[in-house]
Amino acid sequence: MTKTYYLTTPIYYVNGKPHIGHAYTSILCDTFARFHRLRGEPVFYITGTDEHGIKVQKAAIEQKKEPKAFVDEIVPQFKDLWRVLGIRYDHFIRTTDEYHKQVVQKVLADLEAKGDIYKAKYQGWYCTPCESFWTELQLKEGKCSDCGRAVDRLEEENYFFKLSKYQDWLIGYIRDNPYFIQPDYRKNEVLGFLKEPLEDLCITRPKARLTWGIEYPGSKDHVVYVWFDALLNYLSGAGYFLDDKKFKSLWPADLHLVGKDILRQHAVFWPIMLKAMGVIMPKLVFAHGWWRIGGAKMSKSVGNVVDPIALVQKYGSDVLRYFLLNEVTLGLDGTYSEDLLVERYSSDLANSLGNLWHRTASMIEKYFEGKIPQGKAGTRIYDAAGLWDETSKAVLAHDPREALARIWAVITRANQFVEETKPWALAKDPSRIDELADVLFNLADSVAHVAVLLQAFMPETAKVILERLKIGPIEQIRGDKEFYGSLVTAGTVIEKGEPLFPRLDEKKP
Ligand SMILES: [Zn+2]
Repeated sequence: MTKTYYLTTPIYYVNGKPHIGHAYTSILCDTFARFHRLRGEPVFYITGTDEHGIKVQKAAIEQKKEPKAFVDEIVPQFKDLWRVLGIRYDHFIRTTDEYHKQVVQKVLADLEAKGDIYKAKYQGWYCTPCESFWTELQLKEGKCSDCGRAVDRLEEENYFFKLSKYQDWLIGYIRDNPYFIQPDYRKNEVLGFLKEPLEDLCITRPKARLTWGIEYPGSKDHVVYVWFDALLNYLSGAGYFLDDKKFKSLWPADLHLVGKDILRQHAVFWPIMLKAMGVIMPKLVFAHGWWRIGGAKMSKSVGNVVDPIALVQKYGSDVLRYFLLNEVTLGLDGTYSEDLLVERYSSDLANSLGNLWHRTASMIEKYFEGKIPQGKAGTRIYDAAGLWDETSKAVLAHDPREALARIWAVITRANQFVEETKPWALAKDPSRIDELADVLFNLADSVAHVAVLLQAFMPETAKVILERLKIGPIEQIRGDKEFYGSLVTAGTVIEKGEPLFPRLDEKKP
């Protein structure tokens, strides 16, 4: 049985509306998922929502709603955004789903029976307005480190998970498996953090201060800490404990893609939880960077929150996808501004890809009545096998930016080819009609190769191009060979259509 490529986004916390950071993580995973599908592999892409915890409880109370009613209203906003962005996930998990709760309680009961969870008194400092619990060290000059207000001494009885017991094992595991945490600089950060002794993790909250959570098995007084609950979605969503056959086809996860702010939970808590449970490790935890919101124009008019839906309405989902995938190397921080996005729109999309399509289709219309002419064999202007291999290699190395650079090199080459061969001059000389035919066949075929690959990155645009070339979506390139040959057929009547990326000043407001 082929192992299914199993990849995950973090489940998103539902105390507010989705923003560009959420969109970035999901677009990256969607691109990887689509590319693996393109390679003919079975894929399982899971995403979802993290719905328990104090912040949700608080937000619900503020709106005078039951927490479940509150989250039920937020979840569709995430699903709408994924639809609008062309995110094709295979499963959407909510931590309020019954099967997930069952798995969480089963895991906790097992770990307690094994002796990896114990009950103990816990002393700390509590800030009532923030509803935050602080240790002595976390306080700032004896005050709440979030709001600076006075804190009260609090003693609670809670359940603890023995992180400390597994610290040496984890350090050894990370050293022995250099690709477990990526990029390398993040792995080194985790190893640096592990130089200090790990404290056991408090994994419950007393119901006196939090009721919105999964009940700790065997205790009416405690609910489960939201992170312990949330991380387990990667197992429950894959059928752990409930569907053995499914679980065996999916686990270990091939990729947990996370933001760098939640690396510690995924690179320290999570592997230790799995080790304690006797579950094998996921193959890779990859941390991406953050988007800084730059550009005065943006921050003045909209504030610091970039609403991805508004951007999609203005520019189209593929434009946002292209920008986020291309602007930074995965792992590093990026700068977002609408001005930068507009710049990319003009240079890379309208003037490069859009122009290539437009001139190719226009000349086929003008010189060959819209029918793709017959080209000669062996005159292709780029190496299709090399293009496939290099793009694959970049995606498998989690470098979508490099993959796009490979694809854009073909687009640039094809546009140069038009300048070099001057089809408009060839068209004036009847003795050179075969040469003209060859140029246009070559151009049409290069757009087709580009479009097939772009299905992973810019699915909507790719679909439009392939439809105009009368090529069905080539969702799987079986054995690569299909890609190496010509993808267009001479004699096919193509459809020029509207510009793929119209000039922005001509777009309807
Ligand atoms: Zn506070």
